[in-house]
Amino acid sequence: MRAYENLMRFQRDTEALAQVAGRLGWDQETTMPRGAADQRSDEMAAMEGVLHARRIDPRVGDWLDRIDDGALDPVGQAQMRHIRKSYARTMKVPADLAARIAKVTSKAQGQWAQARADEDVAAFLPVLEEVVTLKREEGQALAGQGDVYDAMVDDYEPEMTAADLAAMFDSMRPRLVALRAAVLAAEAPTPLSGHFPAGAQMDLARKLAVTFGYDMARGRIDKAVHPFSSGSGHDVRITTRTNELDPFNCFYSTIHEVGHGCYEQNIDDAYLLTPLGGGVSMGVHESQSRIYENQLGRSRAFTGWLYGQMREAFGDFGITDAEAFYRCVNRVHDGYIRTEADEVQYNLHIMLRFDLERALMSGDLQVADLEAAWNDRFAADFGYAVDKPSDGCLQDVHWSVGLFGYFPTYSLGNVYAGCLHRALRAAVPDLDDQLARGETGGATAWLRDTVQRHGGLYRPAEVIERASGMAPGAEPLIAYLEAKFTELYRL
Ligand code: ZN
Repeated sequence: MRAYENLMRFQRDTEALAQVAGRLGWDQETTMPRGAADQRSDEMAAMEGVLHARRIDPRVGDWLDRIDDGALDPVGQAQMRHIRKSYARTMKVPADLAARIAKVTSKAQGQWAQARADEDVAAFLPVLEEVVTLKREEGQALAGQGDVYDAMVDDYEPEMTAADLAAMFDSMRPRLVALRAAVLAAEAPTPLSGHFPAGAQMDLARKLAVTFGYDMARGRIDKAVHPFSSGSGHDVRITTRTNELDPFNCFYSTIHEVGHGCYEQNIDDAYLLTPLGGGVSMGVHESQSRIYENQLGRSRAFTGWLYGQMREAFGDFGITDAEAFYRCVNRVHDGYIRTEADEVQYNLHIMLRFDLERALMSGDLQVADLEAAWNDRFAADFGYAVDKPSDGCLQDVHWSVGLFGYFPTYSLGNVYAGCLHRALRAAVPDLDDQLARGETGGATAWLRDTVQRHGGLYRPAEVIERASGMAPGAEPLIAYLEAKFTELYRL
């Protein structure tokens, strides 16, 4: 098994270099001087070149030919599954196509940001057309005889298909639409008002991170325009943001990113700097951030504790009791923006993007017709018209950077979180008593042991099935949402 040992040694350096590249990306979004942007893109391109050369290194192909996976233990077999898959993917996409995609998406991201600031869809469409064409070409190279969109989804959620996603969304949509209509027809809770200084928000955000088990000795929290998490193992960083009129944005962005961060921090040390040393898929990753943020962080029990923390940090802010605070945190409201959507409406935003991007890739929808298609669908699902492009088809960065097939993993995360939450409640019967005291240990230890520590060892659906005891499906999520909001809105 010399070949396996050599491959893993080579792979370890590749993973280490990929972490370095990720650190450059983190720096770019947090502390890099503004004037360094051009130099940084050269630095990142050089790192990308190094990584690409390692991915196509002929020695890798040679080692792969000589390794008998069946002779390895289950961990070795899982490592090989990841390495073979990513090698095959790299070899399927011609180098010049990959280079053209990198160039066009970098240009498109800048043009998207400008078009969004100018509310000018027409200025963005030509470059989007280029992105769609190149990504479709890449999808065809990856799919061979198979479905192009399936190949794209597989990049983010291995072994998930568009047909499975469509069936899942079909089962969710009518019940979510009905729940949304009933909730919005009922009396709305009072929204939060007042002024919440940024410094005090960050202090409480740090406390929340530690409360949810984030290890500050192997992590840090900074501010970024769009919160994200980055890194794995012993260096996992998260970001958040503050808005002095809306402290929930800071607190729940923090708890969300802490879910991602804890997943990476809690992976078995034996997998450090190997293909098993990261979250297994975008959907499973999002299940961790969502269960921390929603099923735990927005529960009645936990918000009761948070209410006391906020009174301590900000004094009297006009909400007189914990029940009113719980209703305020979970207020369902009209809005155009996916990232600001509540639990009831969030998945409707995803379904819209899923259907449109699938149609763009199949050619059923032309780029020129995207805005009209978006606005029609939004009006049909939400009952009011999009007021401006930055609230419509220009709101998300994803398509400009070529992330087709990514959006559905957000909903998959919610669905997986629903399955995990059902099993967690059974495993930790006094969960609410713990959460009411600001203790998340019962929940986070269960998630660490059943999901997080395994890293990439199991396939995504397998991880959820082993942890929750059921094949992943939307029923637990929808039942949870119906129960929570029917009670909360006294329907
Ligand atoms: Zn997330």
